[in-house]
Amino acid sequence: MPGNGKKKARVYQRREVPRDQHNVSRSVISEPAKKVLSRLNNAGYEAYLVGGGVRDILLGKRPKDFDIATNATPEEVHDLFRNSRLIGRRFRIVHVVFGREVIEVTTFRGNAVEADNDNTDDDRKTSEHGLLLRDNVYGNQEEDALRRDFTVNALYYCIRDFTVVDFANGIEDLRNQQLRLIGDPETRYREDPVRMLRAIRFAAKLGFDIEPETEAPIRELSQLLTHIPPARLFEEVLKLFSAGYGEATYNLLTRYNLLAPLFPETVRAIEAGESDELIRQALRNTDARIAQGKSVTPYFLFAAMLWPALQKEWRQRQDNGDPVQPALHGAIGKVIGRQVQATSIPKRFSGPMKEIWELQMRLPRRQGKRAFVTMSHPRFRAAYDFLLVREGCGEIEPGLGDWWTEFQRLDERGQERMLSELSSDAPKKRRRRKPVKRPAP
Ligand code: ATP
Ligand code: MG
Repeated sequence: MPGNGKKKARVYQRREVPRDQHNVSRSVISEPAKKVLSRLNNAGYEAYLVGGGVRDILLGKRPKDFDIATNATPEEVHDLFRNSRLIGRRFRIVHVVFGREVIEVTTFRGNAVEADNDNTDDDRKTSEHGLLLRDNVYGNQEEDALRRDFTVNALYYCIRDFTVVDFANGIEDLRNQQLRLIGDPETRYREDPVRMLRAIRFAAKLGFDIEPETEAPIRELSQLLTHIPPARLFEEVLKLFSAGYGEATYNLLTRYNLLAPLFPETVRAIEAGESDELIRQALRNTDARIAQGKSVTPYFLFAAMLWPALQKEWRQRQDNGDPVQPALHGAIGKVIGRQVQATSIPKRFSGPMKEIWELQMRLPRRQGKRAFVTMSHPRFRAAYDFLLVREGCGEIEPGLGDWWTEFQRLDERGQERMLSELSSDAPKKRRRRKPVKRPAP
């Protein structure tokens, strides 16, 4: 730890911001979120909008989702809403489901050390690294605020009196565009290393600075992320790269040594000289797609993030004498096998990701019926987009992408013409035939 170890703990004071001094109003809160807040209030519980919902509205942005904090226990919340389900083990929370919108309701978290209490050992558990394995000790609103990650995420909005309640100078940090962890940063990162990724995600999305003390321990502690279950890291990777600020996020992850625990093989390949231009180009495209309201698929994202690792492995195998195709298959198996030790990749994504890669070899081969067969492949569109990214970043000569663009646009006659032009242009290729076994003389 840098410094003299005698850092003064910050003193936090509860502040209320009245209605006429902030811009949070009921009209910008979704109907489902308002419904959950009112029903909890009417049943006699405290309930507040908290987290990104309040933060983003205060910044004049549209919140991605609405989170609610209450003094009702998860079971009590579940009893109030038929359309709800209890989830989580590390954090028990309730999802109240309204069609496609899910409202996340959490019970105020307390401070285990100070709780006097009926909490059993089972409710709060830490590992030898200081990692919080479970955090289900309940408390009051103030304790809840101080267990949250960043000060700007610890702002509460009350729909009964329209006040915003600030426990950790979040409003001031919001004004100064700073991300500041509540409490001692190193302790908070050790409790939950994913907070380092959250710092990056919010810094990229909000364009905020990470305040110096919050920033200082990240590089050194980045390896703690290897203790996080791969399934949770997979979810975090998706959040990191599908918020519309993928390129900025990638730059920050690299700068803070946080890419290595997420994509160890990719970092190794880049350090060994592979280019990461394809990743950058893919993220730029992804950001543009999101800005246009389009979706991005996790398998495309992972196909791009692992491409440098695949290239390296593929080339090495060819250098060792493997023919192109088996070298590719071997490389795919190896790269995925290593990646799932860092982040999981659910089968429904790893399958299509492999297909995108394999199709890169089939896209140049168009003669005869091949182009039609390739185009009818369910992953053709994604593979074609991937090809365009490879061309866009200069990995391969441009031309093939345009050919496919044109081919898709034309009717069958036009397509046949393109194919016949192709065969007359193409230099005659020597066919490799399987050696025919002749009977011994
Ligand atoms: P967004 O939803 O826009 O990604 P958010 O701040 O709402 O951002 P969520 O993941 O929805 O993030 O979490 C809601 C709130 O829960 C956060 O604002 C924060 O107060 C708290 N929180 C979430 N994850 C953590 C964590 N790992 N440690 C401490 N507090 C957390
Ligand atoms: Mg949220």
